[in-house]
Amino acid sequence: MNQVLNPATEETIAELPEATVEEADRAVAAAKAAFPAWRAVSPPDRGRLLRRLATLVEETSEELAQLETSNVGKPISDSRAEATMVADVFHFYAGAVDKHHGETIPVSGGIDMTFREPLGVVGLITPWNFPMNIASWKLGPSLACGNTVVLKPAELTPLSAIRLGELVLEAGIPEGVVNVVVGPGRTVGQRLVEHRDVAKIGFTGSTEIGRGVMQAAAGTIKRVTLELGGKSANVVFADADLERAAASAPSAAFGNAGQDCCARSRILVERSAYDRFLDLLVEAAGGLRVGDPRDESTEMGPLISAEHRERVSSYVNGNVVFSGNVPNGSGFWFPPMLVEASNDDRVAREEVFGPVAAVIPFEGEEEAVRLANDTPYGLSGSIWTEDGARALRVARAIDSGVLSVNSNTSVRVSTPFGGFKQSGFGRELGLHALDGYSEVKNLYIATG
Ligand code: NAD
Ligand code: MN
Repeated sequence: MNQVLNPATEETIAELPEATVEEADRAVAAAKAAFPAWRAVSPPDRGRLLRRLATLVEETSEELAQLETSNVGKPISDSRAEATMVADVFHFYAGAVDKHHGETIPVSGGIDMTFREPLGVVGLITPWNFPMNIASWKLGPSLACGNTVVLKPAELTPLSAIRLGELVLEAGIPEGVVNVVVGPGRTVGQRLVEHRDVAKIGFTGSTEIGRGVMQAAAGTIKRVTLELGGKSANVVFADADLERAAASAPSAAFGNAGQDCCARSRILVERSAYDRFLDLLVEAAGGLRVGDPRDESTEMGPLISAEHRERVSSYVNGNVVFSGNVPNGSGFWFPPMLVEASNDDRVAREEVFGPVAAVIPFEGEEEAVRLANDTPYGLSGSIWTEDGARALRVARAIDSGVLSVNSNTSVRVSTPFGGFKQSGFGRELGLHALDGYSEVKNLYIATG
């Protein structure tokens, strides 16, 4: 039995049977059987079904948000925003079904055209930090392209995926098109990656597990999309609006208790503004409301598990310049922390995946870019400056999939999201995601 906990109380909120490898096989078989009929559904009808799903998510959004908060420990205001995004994602891909199409290409002797074909059965493997959001980012384009799906959520946080699976059926999407299998990664997940009848794996998780997924996928030349870890830089130049940059930096590092692949966990600050910025930053961090995730004013909840808290605490040594307060008693609490560091320190090199941010000084634009890029990762990042030309120059020079200027946002429904370097490859969200869930077919017709 899988005991599902509320990380804010350590109480068991659900007991689920663990799926076996045989059940994973049955889910794949069901998805395979459902594929011919699903790919044949006309594009407008597929769009209509996805739109109905989006509407059902809207109608169920408070329940989904409460479920996500109790299972992940994230603040209810975050969970509500995430539930809204899930509905928006399904609306977007409902509208995208008939806008993702082929071309005709001028050739000699005939006519050439391309088609976007579905891949077949796709395996979707998701992490525990944004369970329902990330499931929707993969389900939307998978279904829009005419694929059928086996979704394997993380063992720690399977509840919202199970609920989404119910809503899929309620929306009238035929049985077998979406199958949710709750089981361990090393058995059920691994089986999906190796399965002959699974054409593609859409994976979000750690770089370490992603590396194994890529290896195991080689056996069947499976397509993979890998959305992996990050160690993103928040680059603050001396000419920036320091108040705004400092006010926004704590939530960019400590949002979702730092368990965010896009966390700006390296705060790079130009030396001439360093002391003043650090004062502003510590003050802003002190204002962060850490506590009961059900409270509407809470901005940071607990970590996901006791084991994860152990790991996060291993990163704390060195010069802690800020450490916040956390509730006493049960719950996997860990305070938000700012650590002065060099970019070579372990806390600045590895993904902590907790509320521990490294503050690192730099001297001038060239060093800022060098430090921002001095990491195996390349997922996200921010640039704070009032100099527009510099913002563009630095943005072009940072090897990262998603950047923002004078903002710490990363994810929007309509814009591509994904990594450079060891943060993975492939893009989610926007129209780009459709490329990852379809195959281009070229057809030449000799017209003599
Ligand atoms: P994880 O890599 O431990 O697990 C991710 C998923 O993979 C889980 O469902 C797990 O059961 C499954 N899995 C484990 N072993 C497997 C195997 N051998 N074969 C197939 N599947 C297997 O990640 P996590 O701890 O759940 O999540 C945290 C990580 O996810 C962080 O590194 C974070 O940066 C990353 N993440 C990345 C993004 C992104 O979009 N780039 C988004 C969120 C989280
Ligand atoms: Mn993990």
